[in-house]
Amino acid sequence: MPLPTRRLTALLCLIVFCATLYVTLGATAALAQPPSANEMPSVIQVPPEAQPSAHFDAVAATNAYLAQIPADKTARSDAYFEGGYWMILWDFLYAAIVSLLLLNLRWSARMRDLSERITRFKPIQTFLYWLQYIVLTTLLLFPLTVYEDYFREHKYGLATQTFGPWMGDQLRNFGVDLVLLGLLTMMLFGIVRRLPRTWWIWGAVATTAFMIFGILIAPVYIVPIFNKVTRLDDPKIVEPILSMARANGIPAKDVFTIDASKQTTRMSANVSGFAKTMRITLNDNLLRRGSPEEIQAVMGHEMGHYVMNHIYKSITVFFILIVLAFVYLYWGLSWALERWGEKWQIRGVGDTAVLPLVVLLALIFSFVVTPIGNSLNRTVEYEADMFGLNAARQPDGMAQAAIHLGEYRKMNPGPVEEWIFFDHPSGRNRIYAAMRWKAENLKLFAGQ
Ligand SMILES: [Zn+2]
Repeated sequence: MPLPTRRLTALLCLIVFCATLYVTLGATAALAQPPSANEMPSVIQVPPEAQPSAHFDAVAATNAYLAQIPADKTARSDAYFEGGYWMILWDFLYAAIVSLLLLNLRWSARMRDLSERITRFKPIQTFLYWLQYIVLTTLLLFPLTVYEDYFREHKYGLATQTFGPWMGDQLRNFGVDLVLLGLLTMMLFGIVRRLPRTWWIWGAVATTAFMIFGILIAPVYIVPIFNKVTRLDDPKIVEPILSMARANGIPAKDVFTIDASKQTTRMSANVSGFAKTMRITLNDNLLRRGSPEEIQAVMGHEMGHYVMNHIYKSITVFFILIVLAFVYLYWGLSWALERWGEKWQIRGVGDTAVLPLVVLLALIFSFVVTPIGNSLNRTVEYEADMFGLNAARQPDGMAQAAIHLGEYRKMNPGPVEEWIFFDHPSGRNRIYAAMRWKAENLKLFAGQ
């Protein structure tokens, strides 16, 4: 290794070490006085403007709900969410720089050489390369990870873990990525080597199949690595949910809960799994802080995902996007290798040393399609909201849920901002949709 590269390497390691130390110490110091959670008000009373009346106005009702949120809570939540816009950029730039370093310092070529010295067996070579790659990139990205996932989450009162348990989750995450993404990497390089002209289509098919496999095993084999999932047995909560499920043709016998409060103060629920492993789970934060009306509104939304086959639709959209990504990779890789392949000592697309270039091109692709992905997801979420309003008939519960979710999502963005950055409808739009539904269904509430 020529001296300047060696010096640069040492300098880089020192920078990473110092940044990690600084962030870790900062985070530990912050723990001495943990910031309070940014708890949004739990509105018990429906505001007067949102009460059924002859002159019920959806906009006035929406504004009345929004007016219940103290200005300082809104400011803090906006700061957190808008900071997230910048995090998309910093994540992209930081990871791109790491990829460029691995290529230009020829660390990637060296990791490939080492794996070739250990074994002649190609799939094992690929895995050994992957092992070095994931260890090195995890270390290089660690300062940003610890800031974004630990320090920043604590600053806004959204995290509940101390550093030790957080680090434990990081290690578990590393283990899952090491095995699952390692298998995917071995599979994709196998395809590229055997099918040099058509790998882009088979690669897309294999990646989609792998994602379906991931969705299938996640509830049973991955989620329990991090959290405890249990059957809910409180009939006061379970019965109305199962009744709503039966009314909408959902063959659910159980509702599950997850101890998300171990990591976060966020309230949420989700539909996970596939076919027989598909299940509806609500997290313990929602269970603890949500009113019965709010829980029903949220469950109605989740059932919407289920009834409208959103998992299958999302997989189809994913497949289309991933085919586009592979076509772009096919051209992008040959374009870049023609120019810099020799300099980076990469022999071709079937050479494992090409991985940082693949990651760099994938980063650019996903950065560019972020607004499209967000808009596709937001559309599906809006559909689930409409279904949920009709199924649960709890517009005020829905409004309350939107306010609680405002603890980590900006309530009142501009339309372009919402289009680019929001993967769910904004709180304001969700409350307005609920109040519009209420305005058109007022006779349902006539006796209340
Ligand atoms: Zn949803």
